[in-house]
Amino acid sequence: MTAVREPTPTAPTSTEEIAQIRAAVKALCANFPGEYWRKLDRERLYPSEFVAALTKAGFLAALIPEEYGGSGLSMTAAAAIMEEIQKSGCNGAPCHAQMYTMGTILRHGSPAQKARWLPAIAKGELRLQAFGVTEPTSGTDTLSLRTTAVRKGDHYVINGQKLWTSRAEHSDLMLLLARTTAKDQVKRRTEGLSVLVVDMREAKGKGLTIRPLRTMMNHATTEVFFDEMKVPAENLIGEEGQGFRYILDGMNAERILISGECIGDARWFIDKATAYARERVVFGRPIGQNQGIQFPIAQAYAASEAAALMVERAARLFDLGEPCGKEANMAKLLGADAAWQAADMCVQTYGGFGFAEEFDVERKFRETRLYRVAPISTNLILSYLAEHVLGLPRSY
Ligand SMILES: Cc1cc2nc3c(=O)[nH]c(=O)nc-3n(C[C@H](O)[C@H](O)[C@H](O)COP(=O)(O)OP(=O)(O)OC[C@H]3O[C@@H](n4cnc5c(N)ncnc54)[C@H](O)[C@@H]3O)c2cc1C
Repeated sequence: MTAVREPTPTAPTSTEEIAQIRAAVKALCANFPGEYWRKLDRERLYPSEFVAALTKAGFLAALIPEEYGGSGLSMTAAAAIMEEIQKSGCNGAPCHAQMYTMGTILRHGSPAQKARWLPAIAKGELRLQAFGVTEPTSGTDTLSLRTTAVRKGDHYVINGQKLWTSRAEHSDLMLLLARTTAKDQVKRRTEGLSVLVVDMREAKGKGLTIRPLRTMMNHATTEVFFDEMKVPAENLIGEEGQGFRYILDGMNAERILISGECIGDARWFIDKATAYARERVVFGRPIGQNQGIQFPIAQAYAASEAAALMVERAARLFDLGEPCGKEANMAKLLGADAAWQAADMCVQTYGGFGFAEEFDVERKFRETRLYRVAPISTNLILSYLAEHVLGLPRSY
């Protein structure tokens, strides 16, 4: 998927303020050490206390403008928040969508919709954590999704299924992309899909069924079934049939925030590996004295610093309201690769202990692997760069 519209400028956040935000996030995360995450991971439980603390501190409302009760921070600051969370060994994935999913309402919602939802989301009274796009049959090919929304009087009636709808059990609202006009009846192939805000508190048991999906890491993801589920027509965002455009519109923000997470992960692995390589003595000397251990750490460090520069650049352009599709995509690509390189290096540095639960390396290793696949897979970013930046023929 490619982003089609660029963001409007955000208020800049000063370097001092960003440093303060980083320190505050770090302090908050210190209350959620490895054993907290290990327990949740073992039992596949949601980090409710962690998410509540982030919400209370206003971090998840970073990108909601102050007029709606949010923190009104820049993308640079928001990406720094995500980075610090991961760098502290915590996991932002259970709540990161709360930061960016609301962007669709902010940019394309009516004044009444914004007034109804944004202040409540900013206060933490409403959770908008769920984003229903992916389906079992269409996968990456979003335009082939099959869930339908048919207008009947003052409601839409929804039928279909979503897959990988993360956090649906821990969210009040879901941003849903569904087909309102059949694929063979639209003028342009990108038309005919619409965005609806589903109030899952009302819909559960009335046409909405949520089933948890167990994955290799603790991610609170689900599959969601719609059977004649009614959504009030007033919950339609923007114009009917233009939903694909609205969803694409939020992609740069999503890419930049996730790439911030990746940089945080990479830095966590590099810190862990460096500390361990200094301490662990084998053959009478620290393993970090061997170039075979040093070089992969140094290489991962260089890769993560290069990726971090791209994240900064993408965020800065976003904040200036300048085109940043290319940079946001590259930041996500390079960030996810750097995180994975660092993760693999860290396991290798730890040797057998890299597989032991108590060091958190294996948990973070599993968690960071996701970013080369979701929310957008590396292949699709490469296709975007090839086609839209390098002018090569469309490959799909
Ligand atoms: C833990 C988790 C959480 C998720 N959370 C959400 C969520 O909250 N909401 C949501 O809507 N989705 C979510 N997703 C879905 C995620 O966005 C998709 O898994 C991802 O975009 C890849 O789509 P797919 O799994 O359908 O892969 P497929 O589309 O089946 O593709 C399989 C592989 O083939 C590659 N491929 C496909 N077509 C091409 C092509 N033309 N050229 C090159 N390579 C190609 C893909 O890149 C991928 O590597 C989540 C996924 C996971 C695993």
